[in-house]
Amino acid sequence: MTVQEVDLLCVGAGGAAYPAAFRLAKAGKKVLMVDPKGVMSGNCLYEGCVPSKAVRETAAFYQDAQRFQPYGLGGNLHVDFAALMQHKDAIQERRYAQHAAELAAEPLIRLIKGVARLLDPHTVKVDSDAGTDTYHARHILIASGSDVFIPPLPGAEWCLTSHDLYKPSPAMRALPEKLLVIGGGYIGLETATFFAALGTEVTLLQKGAQILNGMDPGMVNLLLPLLPKGLELRTNVEVQRVENTGTGRRVVWLEDGKEQNQEVDAVLLAVGRRPVIPEGAEALGIAFDHHGIQVGPSLQTRFPHIYAAGDVNGRVPLFHAAVRQSLVAGHNILAGNVPSDYADFDHVPTTIFTLPAAAYIGLTPAKVSPGSLLEARYAFSEDSRAQILERLDGEIRLFFEPGSLRIRGAWIVGIDAGSLIGQVGTAIAGGMTAYDLARFADQHPMSAEGISKAARNLL
Ligand code: ADP
Repeated sequence: MTVQEVDLLCVGAGGAAYPAAFRLAKAGKKVLMVDPKGVMSGNCLYEGCVPSKAVRETAAFYQDAQRFQPYGLGGNLHVDFAALMQHKDAIQERRYAQHAAELAAEPLIRLIKGVARLLDPHTVKVDSDAGTDTYHARHILIASGSDVFIPPLPGAEWCLTSHDLYKPSPAMRALPEKLLVIGGGYIGLETATFFAALGTEVTLLQKGAQILNGMDPGMVNLLLPLLPKGLELRTNVEVQRVENTGTGRRVVWLEDGKEQNQEVDAVLLAVGRRPVIPEGAEALGIAFDHHGIQVGPSLQTRFPHIYAAGDVNGRVPLFHAAVRQSLVAGHNILAGNVPSDYADFDHVPTTIFTLPAAAYIGLTPAKVSPGSLLEARYAFSEDSRAQILERLDGEIRLFFEPGSLRIRGAWIVGIDAGSLIGQVGTAIAGGMTAYDLARFADQHPMSAEGISKAARNLL
């Protein structure tokens, strides 16, 4: 048995893996990435962020076109769902080709289509179509991500998951007339709004009292009334089972102690994701719980040379957080496993890409004791771009530390929320204050001017 040596072995080739891989290769290190998909970019491109946003933006254009029909955008608008799916598939193909070219240009990185298992703290077995190979890795980056969680629900096999909807060439080629979504987390709610905007009748069932459980109720309460018509949200329900009716699906649930049911064309099961722990990690004694592998801000496990970044550690399961964590791991490897860089898990911009979107970062009122943050608000009803777009709903709300007026957090509901939260994130990362934001002449007539305007409201 020949054992091949590598400086870094990445378990997975998603956003938590390849930034570190490229960083190390740039420093002349030999890297191996292993992923059963055989391509870079993980679930984000395969069935997550990118394909779901391809559907979202088309649905958003459809909404915009309908709103602008009285102003000269006449004509018969209709949704061609098969064409929409082709558009989504084409974006995925294009990005896969782009990533393949990036990989081909870096001779020090090799990607094997296969599955990695940990044998001892430096030995990794890779099972692929070519057989099983053994590697001695100076460093290991566990970046095996997360997968759809399927609860023990009778009839779960009759449900679609985000994987079925967004993977390349999905089976669904026609817009369902009626869709039922089980789960009111961000994936369920986002998808529910896309389909509602495209014209599907959507019912969403949430187990607890709050949709988007875990997010600031102040922000959620601003968002919910703005969601598309044709979307019905029901909370405090307990789904009992899903049945195959032959032509569609019947979902049976308990609500106020009574059994209810609905027949629909399709059911989306979206009750969360779970970390994917590679085989062998537990036997090595790497600590994990149901959130994932336990790591601190240096991304090291209990073995200083074994790192766990991205969804697999469950700290901030978002692609951009994974990318940053991957770079932190890369920097710490280059520093000889002595931490020299740290991930900030508390200030990661997060957008719920519903229609409209809601976004937040850092501290918001629900996370602190009452009165400990100073609020500054800007309503989109007074915003020139919002008026041009006829989308007056929502607001920018900034949260500052009293006294220093240092910006600590924000939420944004409404137009451009996903872009604006990034701008606030830059301000937070730079340690800026309300004075700094107020002094900055943000561009008119763009929605970002609301950030400086909100800060000026405080002074
Ligand atoms: P992240 O954003 O944290 O990188 P992703 O879920 O996007 O997470 O990517 C993780 C990738 O790791 C997926 O493509 C998944 O198939 C892959 N993977 C999971 N388990 C293994 C394993 N044991 N060996 C190799 N790759 C794995």
